Amino acid sequence: MNPAVRNCLYGLIILAGAGGAGYMLFGRTKENVAVNAAHFSVDGMCLACKSETKLSVPREEEAPHRCPKCGQQAVYPLWYCEDCKKRFVPVLERRDPNGPPRMPVSVACPNCRGQSVAPYIPEAQLETPAGDQPLPPWP
Ligand SMILES: [Zn+2]
Ligand SMILES: [Zn+2]
Repeated sequence: MNPAVRNCLYGLIILAGAGGAGYMLFGRTKENVAVNAAHFSVDGMCLACKSETKLSVPREEEAPHRCPKCGQQAVYPLWYCEDCKKRFVPVLERRDPNGPPRMPVSVACPNCRGQSVAPYIPEAQLETPAGDQPLPPWP
């Protein structure tokens, strides 16, 4: 085999290898993005059985979510207040008399009324919460 042909073959093999690896990476990334786009994870509290739970729910599903422990549709996302360092479930709104209470449009801390609040994400939490606010009543 002359050197020019051999180099050319090597080139083709490397290209094919790189293309394959790129395809695998790309394919995998796309898959993850699709899963993340369809579902999001909720760190929530079930108001019915008072258990803390982590759920993966369809993106369009509005709280309350179904509790894996007691089966009731009573899981609401936990929030965290930067000011009083406590976790809480927001004061809920009853928009439909026949439906479950829903999350308010704008969330404030039920304790200090502070606006420095964000959904509670344990993985992103920089400080240890100082405790939990009392949960909203559950019918
Ligand atoms: Zn429950
Ligand atoms: Zn607060």
